Amino acid sequence: MTGIDKYRRVSVLIVGAGPAGLAAAIAAKTYKPDVDVCVIEKGADLGNHSLSGAVLEGGSLHELLDPVFKGWSDSAAAAEVLAAKVERDEVLFMVGRKFAFNIIPSIKMAKFLRLGFGQLVHQGDYIVSISKLVRWLGQLARSLGVEVLCGFAAEDIQLDRNGGAAAVKLVDQGLDRHGNRQPNYAAGETVAADVVILAEGTDGLLTEKFVQKAQLVRRRNQLYSVGVKELIKVSSEQYAEFTAGRVVHAMGYPIWTPLLGPGIFGGGIMYPGPEETIAVGMIVGADWKYCDFNPQDALTNFKGHRFVRRFIEGGTVVEAGAKMIPEGGYHAVPRDPDTGTVGKGGVLIVGDSAGFVNMLKIKGLHNAIRSGMRAGEAAAECMDRPLSAAGRYSELIVQSPVDREMRSAANFRQAVARLGPSLGFAFSVLGRFMPNFNVEPDYKAMTAARYRLKPVQQYDKDTFAAVAATEHREDQPSHLKILDADVCTLKCAARFETPCITFCPAGVYETMAGQVKPANPSNCLHCKTCQRKCPFDNIRWTVPEGGGGPRYRRM
Ligand code: SF4
Repeated sequence: MTGIDKYRRVSVLIVGAGPAGLAAAIAAKTYKPDVDVCVIEKGADLGNHSLSGAVLEGGSLHELLDPVFKGWSDSAAAAEVLAAKVERDEVLFMVGRKFAFNIIPSIKMAKFLRLGFGQLVHQGDYIVSISKLVRWLGQLARSLGVEVLCGFAAEDIQLDRNGGAAAVKLVDQGLDRHGNRQPNYAAGETVAADVVILAEGTDGLLTEKFVQKAQLVRRRNQLYSVGVKELIKVSSEQYAEFTAGRVVHAMGYPIWTPLLGPGIFGGGIMYPGPEETIAVGMIVGADWKYCDFNPQDALTNFKGHRFVRRFIEGGTVVEAGAKMIPEGGYHAVPRDPDTGTVGKGGVLIVGDSAGFVNMLKIKGLHNAIRSGMRAGEAAAECMDRPLSAAGRYSELIVQSPVDREMRSAANFRQAVARLGPSLGFAFSVLGRFMPNFNVEPDYKAMTAARYRLKPVQQYDKDTFAAVAATEHREDQPSHLKILDADVCTLKCAARFETPCITFCPAGVYETMAGQVKPANPSNCLHCKTCQRKCPFDNIRWTVPEGGGGPRYRRM
């Protein structure tokens, strides 16, 4: 046997049990019930690593589940996951710490006129906890015979020399922090598959390795934002006043003030959560230029705004977390330069790993489900016919609403990055006809400028990491690699005062004996901000042993 033929084999291997990966598994089994489908997930349990706002367009779920789960929407599980619909949709423009203007009437008018930012209307969508959604989809997938394995992290992908099948190498377990084998050492298995679907979420490790090995190309650099979110238990009165069907999106203060600065793309969110909680979060474009900026500082300011404060004052943070969002849009999706396919041969990229987020809607969950479905269908079709999985998948994507939507917002984020939030939003009325700028990767935006709204009190990162319930086995090699320690001390400290220490939401980085180090890797939330925002591109996030990381339950 040569190449990948020597490994254990499955027909369809899906890396990542998020909404996209599980949708792919369900769709593959729907199309071809006897196909063997295996999903591997690095979190210890389903949903542990899933964090989002989240507002979900229900149509995507119906497309996925209606063909195989008759009457699913009447089930108790569905009722719990899809408990609330958006009845009151607000988009606030915040000015300073006290004033907020609801601009939803103009957004609705833009929707009526089919202008770009009219897509921001969420009325009628579901307000969901993505970790609950994922646990439920996982149960449905298992009921169809999908093998869903949690606690298995993947570290590499090998490609068949013919460009068809691929194999995925799992992480070794039981190494000590110096890389020595301990008594419980177990070498990570390599699993080959006819079709591999990469559904790792944002900035996937295997996805990026695959993009390089298969020489896929992004026409524009991928841009990211960083989202930080707290779930706050409030009083019954506060919850009732906020109401269960209300979503608030805010722009302006504290990250963007027209003319006067600061000028960071993004904004705040407030969604009702389960058990009288309110989710409060900040999403900030990772192209911020302030070396002392921490997205959690913006969250502190947002929580202190008069509009937000009255709903959460006196509340208790019961869960928290952070993640990055791929914002670069249509032109930042990695494609084969010759065929335009989102993948190559037998390897397909779906959901946030591909970058299927529509920033004019600030949503990607529906695209994750729909792209996963198309990948699952394509994979199953390939079992019966001599098709290129990547080619079939890309055909299905082009025929789907995913492609239409991604094109409609194709240049939005790049225009905001180039022109600034004020002009960028103004231009967004042009929708798909916005100018097509290329912009530098986020890390190049860093300057020595300071965020002038820095809160007096430092954000409590220890508590943040504690309520994210993150943990890793302590005695294992650090999964955070600093490529050149001299760059940190000689260049970064002098110019930017080591911003990774400031922006890492879990307080992983510290200066020890004059060296910047990932001193607390077991606190890591797997958000990957450090990999994309180190101003010298000097940090690499590799994958730790399976089972480590946050344990989100209601995010
Ligand atoms: Fe995020 Fe990096 Fe900090 Fe981990 S170490 S929480 S990936 S910024």
